Amino acid sequence: MSYLLTKSFSDLGLSAQLVGALDKAGFTTPTPIQLKAIPPQLSGRDIMGIAQTGSGKTAAFGLPILAGIAELKGRPAPLTTRALILAPTRELAVQIDEVLRTLAGPMRLATVLVLGGVARGAQVQKIARGVDVVIATPGRLKDLVDDRKLVLNQTRWLVLDEADRMLDMGFIGAVRQIAA
Ligand code: AMP
Repeated sequence: MSYLLTKSFSDLGLSAQLVGALDKAGFTTPTPIQLKAIPPQLSGRDIMGIAQTGSGKTAAFGLPILAGIAELKGRPAPLTTRALILAPTRELAVQIDEVLRTLAGPMRLATVLVLGGVARGAQVQKIARGVDVVIATPGRLKDLVDDRKLVLNQTRWLVLDEADRMLDMGFIGAVRQIAA
């Protein structure tokens, strides 16, 4: 007789609330990158992951961040963000925001998209109140940091999504400065 040892999201150490939201979204079984990447992040380690599009990467980095934010008390401080996700293109940034909102379920989560090519006003206003997650393309983010419209001293999570593409696109200077 053979047994299939399939791990569930709760086996990986995620809370009942997050597992409930995942269930609702139709995520019952972690994908391979989620299986490998979630536990070390929950224990506070940095990771580098490589997987194809469609492999569930967004949830692999998003779920540990949501789990961490859920444990924090109070609201984010004005001008700060708890997590920062950098992506090479606006399309990818928009997609990440959608996935995070789905994963968050009923959890209160303030996110803001910081993208070039659109007016800064609305982005700046949201950040002024303080947010949980900024999802940004590097150029516009650097502008806001340079102008002190966003302060990164409370930021505990940094994600470089599609880091290889971001560097190919010449964002190395902005990424280095933001990471520092
Ligand atoms: P990504 O690789 O992050 O772009 O995810 C690709 C697609 O897979 C997205 O539509 C996700 O909503 C979906 N997805 C991610 N993880 C799971 C999972 N564990 N079970 C079912 N669908 C998933």
